[in-house]
Amino acid sequence: MQGLMQDWPLLVSTILDHAKVNHGEQEVVTRSVEGPIVRTTYAELHGRAKRCAKALHGLGVREGDVVATLAWNTHRHMEAWYGIMGIGAICHTLNPRLFPEQLVYIVNHAEDRYIFTDLTFVPLCEAIADKCETVKGFVIMTDREHMPETKLKNAICYEDLLAESDEDFEWVKVDENAGCGLCYTSGTTGNPKGVLYSHRSNVLHALTVNQADAFGMRSVDSVMPVVPMFHANAWAIAFAAPMVGTKLVMPGANMDGPSIHELLETEKVNFTAAVPTVWLMLLQHLEASSGTLSTLKRVMIGGSAVPQTIVERFEQNYGVEVIHGWGMTEMSPLGSFAAFKPAMLELPAEEQMGYKLKQGRAPYMVEMKVIDDDGKEVPRDGKTFGNLVVRGAAIAKGYFKGEGGQILDADGFFDTGDVAHIDEHGFMQITDRSKDVIKSGGEWISSIEIENLAVGHPELAEAAVIGIAHPKWDERPLLICVKKEGSGVDRDSVLKYLEGKIAKWWMPDDVAFIDEIPHTATGKIQKRDLREKFKEYKLPTA
Ligand code: ADP
Repeated sequence: MQGLMQDWPLLVSTILDHAKVNHGEQEVVTRSVEGPIVRTTYAELHGRAKRCAKALHGLGVREGDVVATLAWNTHRHMEAWYGIMGIGAICHTLNPRLFPEQLVYIVNHAEDRYIFTDLTFVPLCEAIADKCETVKGFVIMTDREHMPETKLKNAICYEDLLAESDEDFEWVKVDENAGCGLCYTSGTTGNPKGVLYSHRSNVLHALTVNQADAFGMRSVDSVMPVVPMFHANAWAIAFAAPMVGTKLVMPGANMDGPSIHELLETEKVNFTAAVPTVWLMLLQHLEASSGTLSTLKRVMIGGSAVPQTIVERFEQNYGVEVIHGWGMTEMSPLGSFAAFKPAMLELPAEEQMGYKLKQGRAPYMVEMKVIDDDGKEVPRDGKTFGNLVVRGAAIAKGYFKGEGGQILDADGFFDTGDVAHIDEHGFMQITDRSKDVIKSGGEWISSIEIENLAVGHPELAEAAVIGIAHPKWDERPLLICVKKEGSGVDRDSVLKYLEGKIAKWWMPDDVAFIDEIPHTATGKIQKRDLREKFKEYKLPTA
């Protein structure tokens, strides 16, 4: 027997409609790419998204077409994002940190019709325009006054486009399972692969991430997504914030310590989210300038494992709670949060820290388990590790255009490529990406754990651990470090710092210092480049 409830399609346009009606007056504040702070509201944003949708329709964009954005987190990016999705087209967020050749590949693979670009990326668009086979025009997200001289053939001024349009437009009612967002993984091996989110998966995921044990945003809060909209939907904040009417503070192009700090203070931000490197920059700035955080209460950190030093500095020096989360583009992206359970509340601080540093437990709508190479689930004992696999309502079932073939196992689980263990409380901990694991004498060493301890050394700015071939042990860890400016720290001091903090056989066989650690387009340590750079390296123990 069928239930007798209404069929109310889960379309992302309903989120912005809701924000307009119920939180129309709520502010969206942006540090604009042109410079000044721009204030708008959900009601205005809604109207401008409708103008954008109608204009796109006028340009011939239809349901199922792909329209790209190459943009920072700004109110204009939100308008274009909802405008594109609102006509049943697919909003393809391009990551400007990719190499131009990768961008060309992605644009052509996705068959982007138009590219909405910030002023910052006009030179990049000019460099790739001739190779973008399907792109009919570039919408430059600025006003007439700031339109640059450009050799782009079909350059459209965003504000002109909106001014010539109007709000009299009905969102296109597509099926809730229709695609609406497209984001390519950085493709550490092979070509980048596209993850095609649906309206339904985005709506459900926004509900998931905003549970109280996760983001828990309310209408009285002020949130700053520092994590870019081009990095897996700004971790769903661009959906979850309007859903509950939270004030949005968009940092635009400036993501350095002083700029972030200024906005946190002036806009009374109490919740924010980004990868660890952003927070290291902010903390360094605060420490150097004796700055304070007068309103910030919680910071969500994910994308890479959070080092203990970040949690300690935020908590002890600024009274800010750190929420550690894990996820991936294929998961919309969030898959776990390290929120305490009752058993952890009374533990001594040291033991609590152990849980805060884990990647955490699955929220509703994510199923996760760790399996061995035969596909058998390993015990939830907090130490037996294996391959982490996931299943859920906002997890990819295949890549765009069938790239990579069949990606689910017989039970519908997706292999994350992460190696992890899960404990009796359901707390998952990533020990490595499977391709980065160090195999020493038949046992595995977690590079992540050593890295995160090493950056606690007061004179180190960053650390990475890779496996180096060893005649007896197969592989042994090499710790590669970047010193803080002006520091004369040496190998022995670093090794001494690690002593007693990790098992003896995990101790790196050597320490190398370099000026800079390479990062991927999503801010993770680029281990492939490090392995290449150190491929001839001879360990003193070899
Ligand atoms: P890309 O692979 O394109 O850089 P993703 O954001 O999809 O971008 O990367 C997902 C991967 O990032 C995960 O599979 C995991 O290896 C790593 N990751 C994400 N969050 C964490 C975390 N909190 N701790 C450790 N690793 C993490």
